Amino acid sequence: MGPPGAGKGTQAERIAGDCKIPHIATGDIFRAAIKAGTELGRQAKSYLDTGSLVPDAVTIGIVRERLQEPDCATGFLLDGFPRTIPQAEALEQLLGELGMKLDLVLNIKVAPAVLLERLTGRRVCRQCGTTYHMVFNRPKQEGVCDCCGGELYQRSDDTAETVSDRLRVYADQTVPLLDFYQQRGLLQEVDGELGIDEVWASMSGLLRSLSR
Ligand SMILES: [Zn+2]
Repeated sequence: MGPPGAGKGTQAERIAGDCKIPHIATGDIFRAAIKAGTELGRQAKSYLDTGSLVPDAVTIGIVRERLQEPDCATGFLLDGFPRTIPQAEALEQLLGELGMKLDLVLNIKVAPAVLLERLTGRRVCRQCGTTYHMVFNRPKQEGVCDCCGGELYQRSDDTAETVSDRLRVYADQTVPLLDFYQQRGLLQEVDGELGIDEVWASMSGLLRSLSR
């Protein structure tokens, strides 16, 4: 878990690679279910097409199908799910039914002011979608994608105003969720204001202490 701009995707990839477990991001599994044309995929698509939120029952169903695939037998990493208490409760029930459990909930903590700086500096390639950052990951040539030469732009949801709104929504939803996992003794927090490698070092330390 971590707010937008905490570097969650990067760290998730490292965890998945290091632990040799699948990285399960809800956006990806929605797309996979839709592509496979499953019943739940069709349902998810009908909501996404109209721009509405996919109901929890559909999301949980898709997570259930994903967790039953063979590559999850030795573990998995959930990214972007659960987001709310009802989803966390549904996940708890689902894992119980599947004879699985969560070992650890990692939260990457970053102060709102730092997130604001990170998120408003983001630029995206119009052609290939590669992301850059005006401070942390500048393209070689201003405004031009290193990968494909495409034009870089600031997404409308990366402006200061929308970023502030998104951070507020995230905090409102997530504080209760952090309490939920704290009460179950699963929550560990890492300082996400450090560099990518330092964050990874503290995460891998926590992961190693699990496998002992
Ligand atoms: Zn590009």
